[in-house]
Amino acid sequence: MGRITLDKVRKAFGEVEVIPPLDLTIEDGEFVVFVGPSGCGKSTLLRLIAGLEDVSGGQIRIDGQDATMVPPAKRGLAMVFQSYALYPHMSVRKNIAFPLRMAKLDPAEQNRRVEAAAEVLNLTDYLDRRPGQLSGGQRQRVAIGRAIVREPAAFLFDEPLSNLDAALRVGMRLEISELHKRLKTTMIYVTHDQVEAMTMADKIVVLRAGHIEQVGSPLELYREPRNTFVAGFIGSPK
Ligand code: ADP
Ligand code: MG
Repeated sequence: MGRITLDKVRKAFGEVEVIPPLDLTIEDGEFVVFVGPSGCGKSTLLRLIAGLEDVSGGQIRIDGQDATMVPPAKRGLAMVFQSYALYPHMSVRKNIAFPLRMAKLDPAEQNRRVEAAAEVLNLTDYLDRRPGQLSGGQRQRVAIGRAIVREPAAFLFDEPLSNLDAALRVGMRLEISELHKRLKTTMIYVTHDQVEAMTMADKIVVLRAGHIEQVGSPLELYREPRNTFVAGFIGSPK
């Protein structure tokens, strides 16, 4: 399961309110993209959901349970970091198994999950390599593998492709979409890239200065943008 609801969630850093009270529902299994210009609060919102930042007010529920006071490791969500967050001295196998070793999961179960994730990600032949011996796309897949093995209720991606070159970005975009089809797990994907938003999302959340301008499917936003900001951002003809 992976239904996430935000009820009047707000965030201030000192005196500065970065996220005014905000309501949002993410359905189980949905691929939701948070899109908006740099500095609009996308990462902050994702970090609040992940528990990497504390809310200044409001409530976050995951499958009906109040998660607001639950620490990140216990929320059942997995954040996918950019590929450079891998440990260079560890093999691919150890990198992918890392969260399971930390959780002291039974070693046989660790192996089972690592091998299942490697198969999904086409990394089976690379498990004994170090990250430095992989291509950029393979490294990104290892970073995703480290999230998959946790069998999370939802995956949280923060601009995972922004340090890849353009051609690789297109390929990884398709791979992540395929992965979503295969796992059917809730995914929240943050990007400032309109093309990523329009091609990957079931539901797009357009953010501007910490508030939601519009929520809808790519087609709805394209056909019926609520204002010129959304139209301009989505590239709608309106
Ligand atoms: P985005 O990911 O959309 O580019 P962020 O969520 O990183 O935006 O930032 C939103 C706003 O919050 C920015 O104005 C940023 O400067 C501010 N901000 C983010 N993190 C902190 C922090 N730890 N302390 C103070 N201000 C922050
Ligand atoms: Mg950001």
